[in-house]
Amino acid sequence: MESPTLSANALKAVTEWEKNISPGFDSFPIIWDSAKGHTVTDTDGKTYIDMISQFAVTNFGHSHPHIIDAVVEQTRRCALTNTSYVNPLYGKLATRLSQKFGYDSIASMVTGAEAVDSLIKIARKWAYIKKGIPNDEAIILTTDQCYHGLTLATMCLSNRISQNFGKHLPNVGPFNPTTGKVVRFGEVEDLEDALTGASNQIAAVLIEPIQGYAGTRAPPQGYLTAVQTLCKKHNVLFLCDEIQTGFGRTGYDLAYQCEPDVQPDLVALGKALTGGATPMSLVMGKSPVMDCIEPGDIVSTFAASPVGCAAALAVLDVLETEEISARAKHLGCVLTRAIDKAHLPHILEHRGRDKGLFQTLVVDEKPEVGITARRIAALCALRGVLCGNAANRLRLSPPLVISEEALIHAIDIMAVAFRDVQTMGVFPGSA
Ligand code: PLP
Repeated sequence: MESPTLSANALKAVTEWEKNISPGFDSFPIIWDSAKGHTVTDTDGKTYIDMISQFAVTNFGHSHPHIIDAVVEQTRRCALTNTSYVNPLYGKLATRLSQKFGYDSIASMVTGAEAVDSLIKIARKWAYIKKGIPNDEAIILTTDQCYHGLTLATMCLSNRISQNFGKHLPNVGPFNPTTGKVVRFGEVEDLEDALTGASNQIAAVLIEPIQGYAGTRAPPQGYLTAVQTLCKKHNVLFLCDEIQTGFGRTGYDLAYQCEPDVQPDLVALGKALTGGATPMSLVMGKSPVMDCIEPGDIVSTFAASPVGCAAALAVLDVLETEEISARAKHLGCVLTRAIDKAHLPHILEHRGRDKGLFQTLVVDEKPEVGITARRIAALCALRGVLCGNAANRLRLSPPLVISEEALIHAIDIMAVAFRDVQTMGVFPGSA
């Protein structure tokens, strides 16, 4: 089979990219020009089905008219207020979110990693001034394979720590403080052991309700309730990172809602909070904990910008009026059925089958015969389907407004790519 090639136009963009941009994104050579709904168009006019949504950001589709109108209108009226004065949209957003999710207040940042950084700060401060943990001893406990960002503080929360960045943030990570053993995600006993042995030192337990970067790793039903119960028992805060699972993705407005009566002490939101129109993140929480924050503790020049707040308010409108969460749940079943029907070869595992449009295919890689997740993702991209790739996994998290037809068509294209990959040799993006 003939290998696909790049157009002169695309080649020029790729060459410029490779020459002038430091690595960080291991990008595929698809040159985006515009995007609408679930469709991306490249600079040669070819269209693609977006099956990633920038890892769960553009949940409401690219350029959703209601969100874009809100952003454009607000940008014209006042793009940025001075943080020393009042941005009324921030108050409006705080009220709306608090009423919707039952929290008392919010604090805004810009990126997801900053929101998690704030979770750590708030939990530590609470531990020192309310729980009475001796200074500098408070621990933030996470679980294995978590991902909370790549700043100096957040990358240390994971046991997949990047090397050669100097000393990492102390007292955070997925290790039982007493035994040093890793605390496995989804294993209640691991958490119980850690909390029982060191509840006087642990300020908070931080989890993703479903791990995203790790490839849709969902805990067993009942895990979130058990985490909450254990945290309450040991006077430890329960922190939930909903940055990737938020706003409809898993079939719920927020993924922790899949278990009744779960309400974490603090929740971090980012990504889909503004639907991809402009960046903003935030933390929402209950009074006694949020009250620990004092003026100057958590601020950032571009946090809670009027444009970000306008986008988030519009996102909430879309989430509610278009019943996005119910739609994601339904489309998740459509996607699962399409994948089952396609009988894809080289699959070890299909994760997130009942987790809305938050699914992952784990590939049985055989690099010696050309079968890798990277090569499959690259081939899918060249043939018109954009899916995410990390290690041996393919992520399927399309916009939640995608049509059933597009979803099924995407799987048809992927099925052919899965079958062809072995015979393709080297092609753009395959390495
Ligand atoms: N937390 C989770 C669960 C994430 O998936 C991510 C990003 O993928 C982050 C935090 C970091 O967000 P950002 O890349 O906006 O800093």
